[in-house]
Amino acid sequence: MKKYDVVIIGAGPAGLAAGLYAGRARLNTLIIEKQKNGGQIVITSEIENYPGGLEEETGPSLIDRMVAQTQRFGVDHVFDTVTDVELEGEEKIIKCLHEEYSAKVVIIAAGANPVPIGCPGEKELSGKGVSYCATCDGAFFEDFEVYVVGGGDSAVEEAMYLTKFARKVTIIHRRDELRAAKSIQEKAFANEKIDFMWDSVVEEIKGDGLVETMVVKNVKTGELTEVVADEEDGTFGIFVFIGFKPNSALFEGKVEMEKGYIVTDEDMKTNVPGVFAVGDIRKKSLRQVVTAAADGAIAAVQAGKYIEEHE
Ligand code: NAP
Repeated sequence: MKKYDVVIIGAGPAGLAAGLYAGRARLNTLIIEKQKNGGQIVITSEIENYPGGLEEETGPSLIDRMVAQTQRFGVDHVFDTVTDVELEGEEKIIKCLHEEYSAKVVIIAAGANPVPIGCPGEKELSGKGVSYCATCDGAFFEDFEVYVVGGGDSAVEEAMYLTKFARKVTIIHRRDELRAAKSIQEKAFANEKIDFMWDSVVEEIKGDGLVETMVVKNVKTGELTEVVADEEDGTFGIFVFIGFKPNSALFEGKVEMEKGYIVTDEDMKTNVPGVFAVGDIRKKSLRQVVTAAADGAIAAVQAGKYIEEHE
């Protein structure tokens, strides 16, 4: 079994920032990533809101530099799937499909994923008109038409946020009443830029490079409507907010959680000594690259202190 000071689970911005700080503190550090470095950010085609980001910054380009930066400070990287963790006690065990590791500290940075619609074309056009983050992508739809899928607090709040950019925002909801809190609903109904398509679900999204058309089905009548991009625009936005799922199943019953999100204090400490959680998997109010990176830095510094105190 390979031994480390710090094992970080997940190589998104939170895990990579934790790795950078741990590496610079000369802690023997490993980052385990399941599939592909970067987490959700790699589905983002442009990044405008990370301080100091380059003008043509994309998710993958930022992540490539973050990974290289951790490597410069001696952090090990491995692609493997964590299948089980033992977090109690001073020696933590991280079991993967191919290998087993032990660590003095575990930093959980496994992220979260938006729930997709699951219709044809959605995956292919993700980042090309289909988005799961209004804060990230709203500004790209200045004066365009935008559709928001969902009827909960997120969908309705994000629809209102999108009216700052889009000339019209249509909420597509599968029922004839919103789930969102009444106070939020009232604001949306009073907003002249917001329209509704009730009892409707998105059946298919089409486009050659960018979203161009979308098929919407009325679930009561079965009628299919084809939404086509305005000729001058050539495209429109589809923002999906039908729930968000933290990748926390592995840690169920092992660290304190609320609705699937790991609870930490402001030092990123969970209720288990030597176990930290950072980024989107953590209960927090703003899930962005900049807050993920900040979480990672804090956790790594605290990890160093924890290790010092336990030596
Ligand atoms: P949510 O409350 O679970 O709402 C999901 C919405 O998506 C519902 O309207 C649901 O329709 C719809 N939906 C689910 N699956 C769908 C599918 N396959 N196809 C089409 N529509 C689908 O999720 P959320 O809005 O992300 O909110 C998550 C939690 O965060 C909630 O507890 C919410 O209160 C909280 N939150 C609070 C605030 C705030 O207080 N300001 C802001 C954001 C989020 P149905 O209504 O028919 O089920």
